[in-house]
Amino acid sequence: MNKNDIVQVKIEDIGVNGEGIGKVDGYTLFIKDGIIGDVVEAKLMKTKKNYGYARLMKVLQPSDDRVKEPVCAMARKCGGCQLQEMRYKSQLAFKEKKVRGNLMRIGEVPEELLDQVMEPIVGMEETEGLDAPYHYRNKAQFPIGMDKEGNIVAGFYAGRTHSIIPNTDCVLGVSVNEDILTCVIHFMKEYHVPVYDETAHKGLVRHVLIRYGFTTKEIMVCLVINGEKVPHQEVLAERLRKIPGMTSITLSINKEKTNVIMGNEIKLIWGQSFITDYIGNVKYQISPLSFYQVNPVQTEKLYNLALEYAGLSDYAEDVSAAGVRQKPVVWDLYCGIGTISLFLAQKAGQVYGVEIVPQAIEDAKNNARINRIRNAEFYVGKAEEVLPKYYEDYAKEHGGQKAHADVIVVDPPRKGCEETLLQTMVDMEPERIVYVSCDSATLARDMKFLRGNGYEIERVRAVDQFPHTVHTECVVGMQRKHI
Ligand code: SAH
Repeated sequence: MNKNDIVQVKIEDIGVNGEGIGKVDGYTLFIKDGIIGDVVEAKLMKTKKNYGYARLMKVLQPSDDRVKEPVCAMARKCGGCQLQEMRYKSQLAFKEKKVRGNLMRIGEVPEELLDQVMEPIVGMEETEGLDAPYHYRNKAQFPIGMDKEGNIVAGFYAGRTHSIIPNTDCVLGVSVNEDILTCVIHFMKEYHVPVYDETAHKGLVRHVLIRYGFTTKEIMVCLVINGEKVPHQEVLAERLRKIPGMTSITLSINKEKTNVIMGNEIKLIWGQSFITDYIGNVKYQISPLSFYQVNPVQTEKLYNLALEYAGLSDYAEDVSAAGVRQKPVVWDLYCGIGTISLFLAQKAGQVYGVEIVPQAIEDAKNNARINRIRNAEFYVGKAEEVLPKYYEDYAKEHGGQKAHADVIVVDPPRKGCEETLLQTMVDMEPERIVYVSCDSATLARDMKFLRGNGYEIERVRAVDQFPHTVHTECVVGMQRKHI
């Protein structure tokens, strides 16, 4: 096989990043956008000894899993979606299989156990009139740049690069994004506001962040700039506030030469510095810098599952010998702005939340206050430091007695939990551990540790928070083995 060869391949498998996999004379090819069952014509782009990468040139025979036409014309070029050309049902099957495969291979969870405990993936309802869910994201960050003709453009990065694919109407986002971007771009043209040039580290406007409260319909616009202010920003604010629902217009100052989008300083130019939204009946104030789940509809389903797996209602019936109800003590590690903590607090005796970002903890405390939730306390720090320290200090202060928790919930970033944390969790002997994960490979690794240290999986369920991408969330409920 040589570079630039054109081959015919049948796609037989799918890789973890959604790429199609096929073989030509025993030589494995990875073909982006190829779907299992397709017969395609592909051009070899890069060859290694045992495998190569090819570009899909033409679909000769489409798979049954392939949609006729992707809804977004940019679907193949843009780095945002990886599976848009696959039928939604097949996307869900792929995600469920990926979670299951990782749990078996990396986590060494027996297949028979998974057959018993794994529930079907929770998919999202289709958008009316379409055959898959779209417009589910409440947040979008559009890079601003210049095209070859010198026009100001907003859009998304092409896969693995920083070249901007102009697209103000992403089908995963809300439709108001387009009105906002058009308004910003017109304003920039009219007042000759420079775009930021990443390579030269010059110019002003880097990104536009938009957030939308699905329940409240409140809108936030934040311009990320390489400077202190935007010339004539009052005119921009005057125009943007005419968009119904506009609640917050801010600037984020980012003068660093970095890939990190947001700067740490936020300046208010109109309205208030946050928007409010609900998940279930809990209200959250969201500022430009705080982490907030991007798909509120699926998040509610995910949190309800976490709550169910935590088994908190079991305790409501649990009356102690003295006739006093024992309300459970719950830890929520990696709590962000307290989203899961406040959900749990409605059923728990006491909730302790731990999170590394100080601003998020400020938000968490505030969110507890505005919901009149008084049984949640929050700590800033690394989960793998805060919990072990709490455990040690408790023993010192209580004559060697062990700190106990009834339920521990974790929702770590992609890299999963550190072993020191998992060990302390096990030492605290909670009746249940609920693990919410956005990366099933690290989830599986951590499952191996927890299963080897006295816990067994009771229930597992993937939740599709990100239709058309390869990502999936997963929640696992574990129970302590009483030996
Ligand atoms: N449970 C929250 C947030 C989950 S995202 C929600 O559902 O909204 C993961 C969170 O972990 C982020 O807020 C991130 O800032 C935080 N984080 C990352 N590393 C951490 C660590 N070592 N200790 C505690 N929190 C951490």
